[in-house]
Amino acid sequence: MPQTRMELPVLPASRNPRELPVDGKVPLVGKTREELAALLTEWGEPAYRATQLFQWIYQKGAREFSGMTNLPLALRQRLAEVAVPGCAAEEMRQRAATTRTTKFLFRLLADGALVESVLMGHNYGWSACLSTQVGCRMGCAFCASTLGGLVRNLTPGEIVDQAILMQKELPPGQRIGHVVLMGSGEPLENYDNVLKAIRLLHDPGGLNIGYRHITLSTAGLVPGIRRLAAEGLPITLAVSLHAPNDELRSRLMPVNRLWPVAEVVAAVREYAERTGRRVTIEYILIEAVNDTPELAAELARLLAGMLVHVNLIPMNPVAERPQFRRPGPERVRRFAEVLERYGISTTVRREMGGEIEAACGQLRNRVVRRHRG
Ligand code: SAH
Repeated sequence: MPQTRMELPVLPASRNPRELPVDGKVPLVGKTREELAALLTEWGEPAYRATQLFQWIYQKGAREFSGMTNLPLALRQRLAEVAVPGCAAEEMRQRAATTRTTKFLFRLLADGALVESVLMGHNYGWSACLSTQVGCRMGCAFCASTLGGLVRNLTPGEIVDQAILMQKELPPGQRIGHVVLMGSGEPLENYDNVLKAIRLLHDPGGLNIGYRHITLSTAGLVPGIRRLAAEGLPITLAVSLHAPNDELRSRLMPVNRLWPVAEVVAAVREYAERTGRRVTIEYILIEAVNDTPELAAELARLLAGMLVHVNLIPMNPVAERPQFRRPGPERVRRFAEVLERYGISTTVRREMGGEIEAACGQLRNRVVRRHRG
């Protein structure tokens, strides 16, 4: 009997916008230099104006046309009639007392939807964690972002504007050097918008973030991983594995029923071979669920010989999921030791945001609940 494979239901166009008007105007963030040039040359402006506008939007994070002083006044006025520079605004923020981590809740101006982003200071510089969808429909058992389901995909502009707004918070001369697409949402379910956003984040005339410093994290959408391997972009792929076998992984991550462990691992192998880039395997540790030494050994055998690095993430507790607890340091150390004994390159993620609800969607959930009354 032919095996029928389930697929993720296709999102209706209304939940998969390419661009969304803000107060009836076109947001310019999210447009490439070429797209800006097309708009301006239609108005009879010289092509170099697009470069100036691009810098105002992506480098300086301008929120008003009036301040774009190297553009002629008439052009600024004309732009203000039909366009807006940005498409998101800060709703609130939470700062960690002990780490240089700030979590932002951004309001998307088109419809008021809320997304979380995190700005983190490391010894190697600043990194930004961006959301790619409002909510999420992956349904992972341990994750707060998926509790309310998926609202919609973010537009390219909405993804990039999170970075622009956080960049503006940094002291003069400092910049965001790394971006991780690990906020709410599944980036490979919003493939086209995410790829456009990555190219815009990289543009040397804008935020200028090196492709090698951009990490895309996926729950394991195999067709998307294959498609990404063919793009020829030297970004880092991270795959949320969280379990070495189907029985456990399907319980934690329903998406495993569509693309089981063997297929995810095969796609990771293909990605590493095609791109020559080491893939990060993310493995959150949940006490007594997936953190035993036996599972560590099973994981090590699964990944043996592959160009991968395992990032162990002691889970951030989620209020709605009290049955899932973070293991103590001893269990974490033991799991890491087993992997290392098998020769698997392993790190344990430093705790950045636990104290400020940086754990994936918790700040947004609290605010959304409050608004619903
Ligand atoms: N959908 C993508 C990217 C967003 S989630 C993905 O699944 O990779 C980013 C990472 O945070 C994933 O590895 C996810 O499994 C992890 N995560 C989700 N909830 C978490 C929690 N409570 N504690 C720690 N990590 C969590």
